[in-house]
Amino acid sequence: MYFMDKNEKINHQRHTLAHLLAATVGKIYKFDKIKLTLGPAVDNGFYYDIDFGDEKVSDTDLKKIEDTMRKELPKWTEFTHKEISKDEALKFFKNEYKAELINEISERGEKITTYTCGGFTDLCRGGHLEHPATEIDPASFKLDRVAGAYWRGDEKNKMLTRIYGLAFATKAELDAYILQQEEARKRDHRKLGKELKLFTISDLVGAGLPLLQPNGMIIRKEIEDYLWDLHKNKGYSRVWTPHITKQGLYETSGHAAKFGNELFRVKGGDEEFFMKPMNCPHHMQIFVDNQFSYRDMPVRYFEPATVYRYEKAGQLSGLTRVRAITQDDGHLFCRVSQIGQEVSTIVGIIKSFYSTMNMMEGYWVRLSVRGDDMSKYLGSDEVWNKAESALEIAAKENKLNYKIGRDEAAFYGPKLDFMFKDAIGREWQLATIQCDFNLPERFQLKFTNEKGEEERPVVIHRAISGSLERFMGVMIEHYAGNFPLWLSPVQVKVIPVRENHNEYAKKVFELLKEHDIRAEFDDADLNLGTKVRDAKNNKMPYWIVIGDKEVEADKVTLESRDNGQLGQISKEELVKKLLEEIKQKK
Ligand SMILES: [Zn+2]
Ligand SMILES: [Zn+2]
Repeated sequence: MYFMDKNEKINHQRHTLAHLLAATVGKIYKFDKIKLTLGPAVDNGFYYDIDFGDEKVSDTDLKKIEDTMRKELPKWTEFTHKEISKDEALKFFKNEYKAELINEISERGEKITTYTCGGFTDLCRGGHLEHPATEIDPASFKLDRVAGAYWRGDEKNKMLTRIYGLAFATKAELDAYILQQEEARKRDHRKLGKELKLFTISDLVGAGLPLLQPNGMIIRKEIEDYLWDLHKNKGYSRVWTPHITKQGLYETSGHAAKFGNELFRVKGGDEEFFMKPMNCPHHMQIFVDNQFSYRDMPVRYFEPATVYRYEKAGQLSGLTRVRAITQDDGHLFCRVSQIGQEVSTIVGIIKSFYSTMNMMEGYWVRLSVRGDDMSKYLGSDEVWNKAESALEIAAKENKLNYKIGRDEAAFYGPKLDFMFKDAIGREWQLATIQCDFNLPERFQLKFTNEKGEEERPVVIHRAISGSLERFMGVMIEHYAGNFPLWLSPVQVKVIPVRENHNEYAKKVFELLKEHDIRAEFDDADLNLGTKVRDAKNNKMPYWIVIGDKEVEADKVTLESRDNGQLGQISKEELVKKLLEEIKQKK
């Protein structure tokens, strides 16, 4: 008996709805006036790309299309399919887009099939719900928006109209998703980044090259320092590598061939260089310039380093899709027998880091291993077995919530990828631990073992936050800008009520500064309400109000963004409380 798994079923439902969308659009706008192209399922629903000719379709037309889809759905009782010849297909689908697809299918030597339901036939290779009318809840989908999309994603091609739909198994899931999207819009890091003056995208510098404002830099530096704190007592050493390199390095590593068009090239005189797309080959060069013995292993390097990859302009966005990415990178070189222990240490670091960020709830890990086709992978069976089992044992010993991803390993080795959920339930792939047998081979890495022989180390690539830019974007949205005290650009604002309170308030401010607490002194000639509102708008975690009562009692009145009025406390208590909270990264 064959049961469809949940993922497969929802994908089939989404793709089925793409057919229904195409059929409905054809009905409303007339099949002979428009050209249907492609309509796949996507993560949250489906889309269909359509050439509407001279007709303009916008978001305001979606309601009508959606309502008509619901009216049509009951007629979609059963899918049938048919294999046809190339000539028949070309005759039936009289548009150049379908013709391109048909020719390609035929060139690949695959069968050309059509699927029909509700009187509508489309070129398709299958993947539908058999009985849409009874299997799809009409309230579980919604048309979302209209966007432009180049045919096959190529800007040289014609711009088509893409209609996006949202679709979930149930109406409740759809509603929850819509709510999450609304919340996500409020938290959008591009919007908050501007409001809180965290970063800037300058037209003159270029898209995908965000500039950090002082406030943003404080957050980034705190994250970076914390990452180093978690590594420095675990045998890691800091290294540094330049941003450009001779081409040869990436030819040896294989990245030149692999990254191809994503590489930035720079010229100096007659010499050509690459901007580095990754740090691994550089770290290998640091390793090889030593004569290590088994006693030195493992060797561990840490370097938050910026790498450069050319991404298409249209895909750049805020801090999450950029051309300059700072990986919190690290490489360790060890013996196969040491993989388990090293992975456990890294897992410990990941757990500490994400517990602090309050993201451990609902996390999961993908253990990516080989598939059946061994020709895809580099390294001997024996070493792969050892590495895969070392990763799995480490996953078990550390009680990780892991799933095995068969055939998902990198060609150079197995890996653990960590997915974390943010405050509104969105999943982000962030940390990664990867074993690599390829680069040590390419760079001829070696150390001397107990027998005085040369032995090849394994390389483990690891990143905890992934990249500082993307991680900061995720954090802005995760906290909705309400950063915990240790990450807040301004930790406390000191507000004198009137001018005659300035002197005492200034003393409090100086005291906070002496203890490296990021304080701001607000002696602007504005009323108290305005100053407090400013602290709230800037999402400051604390502010202190100083008036007659406070000066008389030699105390301060503390108010918290998250917990409201905290009453009067002495200056010493204030410092102690804040320092403790900063230290604990609450
Ligand atoms: Zn289909
Ligand atoms: Zn690496």
